[in-house]
Formats: sequence, structure tokens, C-alpha cells
Amino acid sequence: VPIPGDNLRINPDRLWDTIHELAEIGPGVAGGNNRQTLTDDDKKGRELFKKWCDASNLTMGVDKMGTMFMRREGADPALDPVYVGSHLDTQPTGGRYDGVLGVLSGLELVRTLDDLGIRTRRPIVVVNWTNEEGARFAPAMLASGVFAGIHTLEYAYGRKDPEGKTFGDELRRIGWVGEEEVGARRMHAYFEYHIEQGPILEAENKEIGVVTHGQGLWWLEFTLIGKEAHTGSTPMAMRVNAGLAMARILEMVQEVAMDNQPGAVGGVGQVFFRPNSRNVLPGTVVFTVDIRSPEQPKLDGMRARIETEAPKIAEALGVRCSVEPVGHFDPVTFDPALVARVRKAAEDLGYTHMNIISGAGHDACWMQRVTPSVMIMCPCVDGLSHNEAESISKEWAAAGADVLLRAVLETAEIVE
Ligand SMILES: [Zn+2]
Repeated sequence: VPIPGDNLRINPDRLWDTIHELAEIGPGVAGGNNRQTLTDDDKKGRELFKKWCDASNLTMGVDKMGTMFMRREGADPALDPVYVGSHLDTQPTGGRYDGVLGVLSGLELVRTLDDLGIRTRRPIVVVNWTNEEGARFAPAMLASGVFAGIHTLEYAYGRKDPEGKTFGDELRRIGWVGEEEVGARRMHAYFEYHIEQGPILEAENKEIGVVTHGQGLWWLEFTLIGKEAHTGSTPMAMRVNAGLAMARILEMVQEVAMDNQPGAVGGVGQVFFRPNSRNVLPGTVVFTVDIRSPEQPKLDGMRARIETEAPKIAEALGVRCSVEPVGHFDPVTFDPALVARVRKAAEDLGYTHMNIISGAGHDACWMQRVTPSVMIMCPCVDGLSHNEAESISKEWAAAGADVLLRAVLETAEIVE
């Protein structure tokens, strides 16, 4: 059965109102949200989402990580469902749209199908993954990671927040430990709609980002040992300056990233100078290099070159250098057939679009390990995210949700 014409759209006002009603729970201090995972506000957010899902006659399943699976039955209930989702938790100073847009667009999709009396052959399940942000309990994408077999349930339950409370205890406290074994569900496909969290779509004046890849990354923690010395009385020739070595390594990282264009990035976001005093050359500098590329060979090549060149740079200054990998994700290639389906949906609906790579991690990156997956992105103002000032327009939100609706319908198949 073909997809109906390009007049098949979600209800933009209803989607927008739903997003902003949820944003009233766990307000931030500057117009955004602080609805961190497994807090009382997370609990309230879940209850409101469940209330909306109940009103649409969705049936709920909850797994032992507290992830919510809201099911709209298909004409053939035995078929593997099509999953649509993201996350409702936020950063401590998060925006209103990061994650929320994907979950509530899934709900809006269901509401639209109900309005139009459309049945699908496959069930459709709207998902709210627990602890995508990782701000309170590291690492990020924790529940989808357990679902995909990256982490064990025991590992996840033992994660601690800054106050020493564990994930397992807090999940029990808010009452959202489900019955289901994590990862036991079968999926036909997974769709995630998310704000870009970067500046490209807005700068290119495109409504839809067709996400082809997720960046792979390495975090390399360097420790440089020089000699603490007085900045005034130590002659230049007699310095063993770990700070200077850090600066030169940073230049080299920039060069490595530039040599691996397009798509590669590299930089340093965190540096600790010890003793970090105005008039003392640092004896120790610890910093983390963050390199990313959507291509595995490039990513591995960048890491190898940085690990080869950095010790030489340090050695030339008499500085000792050691490096330890402290974080890693493989690059993700989203399912080509679903990517093509998203692109075609944008075209059919007359939306401007371009291919884009997700620079941030998302639940979809883990889901691609267990089921064909894809992401759709909409622009966000100035590329700002993980910031209370995060902003999108109602029209942008609706365009991506329309594309989501169309691509999901094509996957779940309309029944006459
Ligand atoms: Zn997110």
C-alpha cells in the first residue's frame, strides 16, 4: 500500500504545546530544563509522558533499566515492531528540545495516525531511554548501552552520582524498575529524531539533516612531567617546561585533524596545570585530547600519529610524556536503506535536506548494533545545545516530525 500524498503531516501546534508542557517539569534557571535522570522531576516527566500515552491507548513495557516502551498495536502483532524514540532526561543546564523532541514526536506520530484512522501492519513502539545524558551517572547512553550488550546490568546499577548514590538505588527509589530483561525485545528498525546540536543545518539553510554516520572518537589522556620552577629566576635554557610541551602537542593535534578532512575533528577541552600558580612553571600537565572521525581508518590513523609525535615533541623539551586512552566509540554507519528512506521522505514532502554526520553520541548509535537504525535531525539556533538557551522553531520541529512520520509509515506499512 503506497504512502498517502504529501498532505500527510503531523499537527505542529500539538507537538509544540506538548514539548512545552513537559518543559514545565524540572525547569532550569534560564528558561531551559534541569530534569536529570532518576530525580523526582524525571519521575514526574515519566508520569506525564505515560498519561499522554495512556490517552492514546498505548500499552507500556518497562525494562530493568527503567526504559519505557509504549506500544501501538499493529495489524499483525507477531511482527517485530518499528521503534521510535530518544530520551526525556536533560543536562543540569539543558535545553527543552534535546531528546524530548524525539520522544514526543514519536507520540505525535501516533496521535496523527489515530486522527487519520491509519493502521499499520507492524506495531510501533515509542521509547524513552533512561539516562541518555550521563550527566548524573556516567557514561552517557547507559540504558541503550545495556540494551545493546555494551554494558552489563550490574555495571549500570553500580554507577554513582556525585553524591555517591547508585543508579540502581535511585531507579528503585523513583519506582521505575521494570520487569523486562534488558535487550530481550526484538526490533525491526529504530528511528531517532533529534536536534542537530551543531551549526551546520542552520548555516546551510536546510530543514532536514539526513544522518548517515555517527562520529567515532578517542579520548587520549596525556600526562607531561617537567620541572616545577620559578618563572622569574629560571633562565630559558634551563627550563623543563611541561606547559610549552602541551601547547606544541595541541598545535600538532590541530594539524592532524586538518590533515584528515573532511569530517575529522580534534582538540583539547580539559587541561590541568600543577601547581597552577601564576609564577610557577608547571611541573605536571594533564590534558585530554578528543579526536573524532566517522571513518574508522582515519580515526585509528589520527590516534597513531598523535601517539607517535607527542612523545617526540615532549622529548625535545626534556619533558616526559605518557598517554592513556580514557574513552572510545567506534564510528557508526547508519542503515543505508533507512537513510535512503529518510532522504526520500524529505524529498516527497518538499523539505530541503542534506547529509550530515552526528558529532554527538546518541542512543541510535548503540541501537545500530542490534537493529537497522537511522537518525533525522533538525536545525537548532546557533548550534547551541547542552545550554538552557537551546532553541528551535515550531516549523523546524514539525518538518522533522513529518519526515519521521513518513519514513516510519513506510517501514511499518499501512494497512487498508
Ligand atoms: Zn540528546
